[in-house]
Amino acid sequence: MTDGTTRREFLGSVAAFSLFPFEQEKPDLLLQNGHIVTMNAAEPVAEAVAISRGRFFAVGKNSDVMNLATSGVRKLDLGGKTVLPGFIDAHSHPAMAGVMHLRMVDCDRRSIPAIEAALRERATKTPAGEWVLGFKYDDTKTEDGRPLSIADLDSAVPDHPLHIIHRGGHTVYANSLGFRRAGIDEKTADPPGGKIDHDAATGKLSGRVAESAQAFFDKAIPQNFTRDDHREGVKLISKMLAKTGITSATEAQGTPTDLRAYQDARDSGDLLFRAYCFINYRFIDAMIEAGVRTGLGDDWVRVGAMKLVCDGSISERTARLSAPYEGRPNDYGILVMTEEELYTYGRKAHLAGWQIGTHANGDVGIDTTLRVYERLQKESPRHDPRFRLEHCTVINDSLIARIKALGAIPTPFSTYVYYHGEKMRYYGAERLNRMFALRSFLDAGIRATQASDYPPGEFIPMMALQSEVTRTDTKGNVWGPKQKISVEEAIRVGTINGAYASHEENLKGSIEAGKLADLVVLGHDPFKENPSTLVTIPVERTMAGGNWTFES
Ligand SMILES: [Zn+2]
Repeated sequence: MTDGTTRREFLGSVAAFSLFPFEQEKPDLLLQNGHIVTMNAAEPVAEAVAISRGRFFAVGKNSDVMNLATSGVRKLDLGGKTVLPGFIDAHSHPAMAGVMHLRMVDCDRRSIPAIEAALRERATKTPAGEWVLGFKYDDTKTEDGRPLSIADLDSAVPDHPLHIIHRGGHTVYANSLGFRRAGIDEKTADPPGGKIDHDAATGKLSGRVAESAQAFFDKAIPQNFTRDDHREGVKLISKMLAKTGITSATEAQGTPTDLRAYQDARDSGDLLFRAYCFINYRFIDAMIEAGVRTGLGDDWVRVGAMKLVCDGSISERTARLSAPYEGRPNDYGILVMTEEELYTYGRKAHLAGWQIGTHANGDVGIDTTLRVYERLQKESPRHDPRFRLEHCTVINDSLIARIKALGAIPTPFSTYVYYHGEKMRYYGAERLNRMFALRSFLDAGIRATQASDYPPGEFIPMMALQSEVTRTDTKGNVWGPKQKISVEEAIRVGTINGAYASHEENLKGSIEAGKLADLVVLGHDPFKENPSTLVTIPVERTMAGGNWTFES
């Protein structure tokens, strides 16, 4: 670039700025009489905010902020209600979940007969031979005390191929016709990093496959969602998130289709949260070739990290552990990619300026991922790469020290203890004190985030607060009490720390002048609420960019 162009661009930006001289900027909305918890250390609590063109213009005492009132400005009396920065869900799958809610059978039901009935009903409306698709099935949440079998699925849906994704997303279930369409029979060998389950007594297919074996189905099921379906999916999930106080979410397994869906929804006015869209490693070559890297985009849709997957899941017990699952002495979980594969993709992305987010749940998975990050940073040091450890569930002291040394960011599940209590017994009391380890992360000065991983976990921020503060499930069982944090810490984790994880801490995550006007108005004050009823706090309003995205 020549000096001439630089100067022209500089003058151009001055000219544009002078159209809106700062002194003449007027607030268009004033919120007063609130208990505003800002997450800004310089001014932790305020009474009023002024908002101008989507950003906080002033934050402070009623008297100071209301002095800015000019004719025509809108005013809202908050009546003493508590206001927090908008919540940031640092690991979720909104675009995928949206299209699933739009097109698939929601199998989040409490008995196998109830699931069968829902599938049967969908089958009657589906042309013969076409796939019936389900999602959010959870084998631990049905009263039957056993998982779905291939016989259940054959009797519910005999004439259509059927495919159901487990809530955790790492295992799928299918009927006999589904297996035939996927080209799997009793003799099909397990692929590397995957498993096809068989009935222990008969050797026949059980109906379930895990991890990379899911690819048989991915190839067989036609990907026939339209561009409109994907946009509609984002629209649907936008409303669901806004209702709970979420104003930003990381799309943790994004594809170019998802990136387009977010842009389409933004353009049609249907995107109600800010999306930080990870890109799955399978697309990284094309992205790098196109000159794309982390950070490209705007305040609503931004390219996030490259996503890698090291091991399995917590809810489906496939996370790779150094000690076996309770009651299963030979089961240590699954490593999905080899260290060398992680390094090869990681190196490409790292050299091209991408942030990297690697799914790593078990302590072996985290150790492997850290070794890759440490090697990348040693061979090709980059300033502030903010490597992410997606989930980072089972830790120990030495992993904590390495995470801190690297400046890496864990995104632990925020609602699992409360919502998935029945799965905790697979991990044992000692290990649970080292899981979803916010106390350990914060004490070490590590900026961990709040993350639902929806659909696997519930995304309600008030549930996250209760889960993190009490470490207690819906039945009153306490899991890993050493990792309890305070309400104030849980809010910090769910707001400003989430912004840091996407390099956006100067843009959002706290209520301070100059930042994006993203906030939530609550019906009760979480600081005064009994910790065991935090989940019942009603969200009255949610605002993103100065506009209400939800009003009760
Ligand atoms: Zn995820």
